[in-house]
Amino acid sequence: MRRTDAPLSDYTRFGLGGPADLLVDADSAVEFIGELQSAGGPHIVLGGGTNLVVSDAGYRGTVLRYTGRTIEHHGSTIRVESGADLEALVQYAVAHGLAGLESMMRIPGWVSGAVYGNAGAYGQSIHETLARVEIWDGAERRWLSNAECGFTYRASRFKQNKHWIILTAEFTLRPGDAAALAARAEEIRATRDEKFPPTMKCAGSIFKNCLFAQLPRGAQQRVPEKLVREGKVPAAYFLEQIGAKGEVAGGIRVAPYHANLLYNAGSGTAAQVVQLIDNLKGRVRQEFGFDLEPEVQFVGFPDRVSY
Ligand SMILES: Cc1cc2nc3c(=O)[nH]c(=O)nc-3n(C[C@H](O)[C@H](O)[C@H](O)COP(=O)(O)OP(=O)(O)OC[C@H]3O[C@@H](n4cnc5c(N)ncnc54)[C@H](O)[C@@H]3O)c2cc1C
Repeated sequence: MRRTDAPLSDYTRFGLGGPADLLVDADSAVEFIGELQSAGGPHIVLGGGTNLVVSDAGYRGTVLRYTGRTIEHHGSTIRVESGADLEALVQYAVAHGLAGLESMMRIPGWVSGAVYGNAGAYGQSIHETLARVEIWDGAERRWLSNAECGFTYRASRFKQNKHWIILTAEFTLRPGDAAALAARAEEIRATRDEKFPPTMKCAGSIFKNCLFAQLPRGAQQRVPEKLVREGKVPAAYFLEQIGAKGEVAGGIRVAPYHANLLYNAGSGTAAQVVQLIDNLKGRVRQEFGFDLEPEVQFVGFPDRVSY
């Protein structure tokens, strides 16, 4: 599929973003690599668009998406093309009685984006069961071991190597009871749908949670002990302290029940998203002496990290 002047708001869950000069989808790896090689000028690769803030001006260049989505398994190993929905992978694993992904039920987006950002929720992260990843590195197709992907909290080496394209992922799971796994996945689906209604235009959490050990001493002393889990403090805690809940910038709002969730109430713009992000970040810095780090990726903002 090729589309010129493609409105990126159609391809992002935030429903924001101006046009890309050209958008190309390819569902075979060979075809995708061919498109990538012929793209020439500026280009970026997107997945399901659920972790992105795309500028109102859009993107001058080509946006490519690898849409191969075959999922298959052999024993307890699942191999999946990276354009598959993460939820389809979770459901596949659960239906085949394979444990290790069920807590990631309802994290939106594709397997590619989940590997890129080491997605996770409710105590499970992609890196825990991912065995290896097939990439195109600009010269050849090759497999990276889990260790070579350099996973850390919501990050991987893919963030520093944006020319590495994730094509296939292989997971090694544990045998489990399909009914029990389905029950766990369903429980998480219900919880998440309440927090993130499926029609909500957003990108999930805007800021990453904070590593307690890296906070300035003064900030550490103000964090209630019970909030520190697995060495992390929810970014929402700091945002709540500065009164972020319910704040508004034009059509963009901070959810009244979750200070780290910004959503597009319908008429929002990407400019308003970054205005609110910068404002909240500045106030947390002033109050606690450190910078919150955005979890979302920015597209089409020359002055911001990402693209
Ligand atoms: C309602 C909601 C809830 C969320 N909850 C969670 C949560 O609980 N936990 C969590 O971790 N995240 C969460 N997120 C964030 C988001 O869902 C994840 O980050 C998701 O894994 C992003 O996948 P995506 O396919 O949409 O990636 P995109 O947003 O399309 O892209 C993200 C990054 O991946 C790169 N990328 C995409 N495809 C490729 C590829 N083939 N090769 C190389 N790079 C690629 C892009 O260049 C971009 O930098 C949530 C988002 C929403 C909207």
